[in-house]
Amino acid sequence: MARIVMKFGGTSMAGTERIRRVANIVRKQAARGHEVAVVVSAMAGETDRLVNFCREANALYDPAEYDVVVASGEQVTSGLLALTLQSLGCKARSWLGWQLPVRTVESHSKARVETIDSPALIEALEAGEIAVIPGFQGVSELNRITTMGRGGSDTSAVAVAAAIKADRCDIYTDVDGVYTTDPRIVAKAKKQKAVTYEEMLELASVGAKVLQTRSVGLAMKEGVRVQVLSSFVGEDAIPADEYPGTMIVSEEEMNELVEKGDMERQHVTGIAHDKNEAKVILTRVPDKPGAVAHIFEPLAAASINVDMIIQNVGRDKGETDVTFTVPQADLARAQALLEDKREDIGYNRLITDSKIAKISVVGVGMKSHAGVASTMFSALADRGINIQAITTSEIKVSVLIDEDETELAVRVLHTAYGLDAADEAA
Ligand code: ADP
Ligand code: ASP
Ligand code: MG
Repeated sequence: MARIVMKFGGTSMAGTERIRRVANIVRKQAARGHEVAVVVSAMAGETDRLVNFCREANALYDPAEYDVVVASGEQVTSGLLALTLQSLGCKARSWLGWQLPVRTVESHSKARVETIDSPALIEALEAGEIAVIPGFQGVSELNRITTMGRGGSDTSAVAVAAAIKADRCDIYTDVDGVYTTDPRIVAKAKKQKAVTYEEMLELASVGAKVLQTRSVGLAMKEGVRVQVLSSFVGEDAIPADEYPGTMIVSEEEMNELVEKGDMERQHVTGIAHDKNEAKVILTRVPDKPGAVAHIFEPLAAASINVDMIIQNVGRDKGETDVTFTVPQADLARAQALLEDKREDIGYNRLITDSKIAKISVVGVGMKSHAGVASTMFSALADRGINIQAITTSEIKVSVLIDEDETELAVRVLHTAYGLDAADEAA
């Protein structure tokens, strides 16, 4: 018998019929004698719908009120799943964020979990009751509703797993594991038996939305065993206990898998894309100490994450152009802040472009293998894809390109690194 957290994403929860399918998967796990806590997302599309309402109500919305609106999607699905489980004869109840409570920092719309009060939850689990917890939501020190950023239910699930010392956290989604790239874009993408925490963290942070970045960081820190697997399976599916999905593992575990011949050592583990960033260009910024700080300080104070930054070589008159990217969702706020600080910064024009995409290749093998970046640049150049910006880390290379070329770029790179599924058979 084990204690298991099962998380179901939006597509799995989209409608009462799918919730019934989920309830059956949960019931089966509980019937094996496991203690089961379930974390659910809102129905697919629901959070987007709620976000749009907020934008329509007030383009520069107050994040605290935004949280009140968007947290509601998960309240609906958690209640519906508890009801459906009860209809199947299971003992089940919902536990809303404020009821557990899931305490988070005050930072609205991107809150971080601080503590989860687990004694009552553990007591219910030990009494054989299935706990259904809405993902994504928590409560701040000031007793206001918070949410944990898009895709945040993954983090809720991992945080619950850490709090109740679960044996495993199974993330059920609409694909059957972590692939070499988004299988919806590249049909030849390959499912991985295992991916290291470090690689998954990097892949998630550059747009492989199968797991929220924070959930991977938290799992790594707390040593939570995470499996990604599909909820769209038939009656004869391999049980989750036998690991049909992708396990997120430590480097030591990965080395063991490679030694046993269960995994191949690869230079590139995956390719990810992100269309959710926007480019901001400030022209003719004074080329002097402190100028760049003037740009980024107000953005940091407003918790706006700046990603790629390029400062061009100074022009003749002691001026330079500064280009950077921010999440599209924060663009309106970033623009308003920068316009406000125009005098202080002293730039000439503020130009924005949301039609961009970031393409990244990730792999721990890069640490010891040269040439990954140059393969990327030549493969893109061969297809006439222009690179607007580049960033690198120890295990990642990212480029910024025109959004229209996203799919082509991902496919071309997948082939260039020999990741296509057909290559194996050849
Ligand atoms: P959920 O609603 O279950 O949280 P998400 O839509 O957040 O699901 O994440 C699952 C999706 O992630 C898949 O449908 C797939 O299109 C996408 N995805 C992106 N990169 C990958 C990858 N490397 N492996 C698997 N899925 C990926
Ligand atoms: N419903 C939220 C979202 O769409 C959280 C989640 O699904 O993980 O971002
Ligand atoms: Mg998700």
